[in-house]
Amino acid sequence: MANQNQVKAKKHLGQHFLRDENIAQKIADTLSLNGYKDVLEIGPGMGVLTKFLLKKDITTHVIEIDTESVEYLKNNYLNLADRIHEKDFLKYDLTQIFKDRPFAIIGNFPYNISSQIVFKTLEMRHQIPEFSGMFQKEVAQRICSKEGSKVYGILSVLTQAFYEAEYLFTVPPSVFNPPPKVDSGVLLLKRKEHYKLPCNEKLFFKVIKTGFQQRRKTLRNSLKIFNLSDNLKANTIFGQRPEQLSVSRLIELTSLIENDIN
Ligand code: SAH
Repeated sequence: MANQNQVKAKKHLGQHFLRDENIAQKIADTLSLNGYKDVLEIGPGMGVLTKFLLKKDITTHVIEIDTESVEYLKNNYLNLADRIHEKDFLKYDLTQIFKDRPFAIIGNFPYNISSQIVFKTLEMRHQIPEFSGMFQKEVAQRICSKEGSKVYGILSVLTQAFYEAEYLFTVPPSVFNPPPKVDSGVLLLKRKEHYKLPCNEKLFFKVIKTGFQQRRKTLRNSLKIFNLSDNLKANTIFGQRPEQLSVSRLIELTSLIENDIN
């Protein structure tokens, strides 16, 4: 058992410690362990999830911003020692840990930086074949949602352009200390075999962000800044709103725009 006092939960770091070991194990077991030998846990806290990762045939690294949690981990998980990185996940250059090796990401994530965690993962997608863990339920649902849904948006499209996204299960507030005000949801992202887009990726990000910032407008109206030809704008796809279009249609849209502006 712990040979040190428990870490005191700090709100500004989004600390809600999972108390239910069955759920921690269930999250750890979502990893396929295929195609990588390293895993990075974001925000291990007191290591409830880490404990189950350490039983697997994989090298576990953890990144934790909170000094008190890092002390706790160092005292209680002696075999983790030099794989505890006291850093801010959002700011740290992960190639310092993994060089150019592939690695999975897992965690019961700090909910205040959820979207930023996903965006950083997308930026490093060439090294991250799998991503699994817990977010606020609404965020997990949004990431996994499909066209036509009210919550389908930038986060859903950019993630699903590169990853298959599956919502796995819901976790109630009662299993955390302190309990958050919201339900939580666990999801799994598996990188697609072809995760290079057949269109200009920078342009794709720009089209998606511009279109969804005014999601109630037709693309003809929301994409005015691209100065598209009348000929292209006559295409029926421009009469649609972005939220009606699947990820593959949005990729096609970007290709059309790319041809038009070149
Ligand atoms: N995984 C633990 C703790 C979850 S709470 C459990 O399930 O019990 C979220 C954790 O993320 C906290 O330990 C918090 O200190 C850490 N954290 C918050 N912001 C972080 C950041 N930017 N980089 C790394 N860790 C962070």
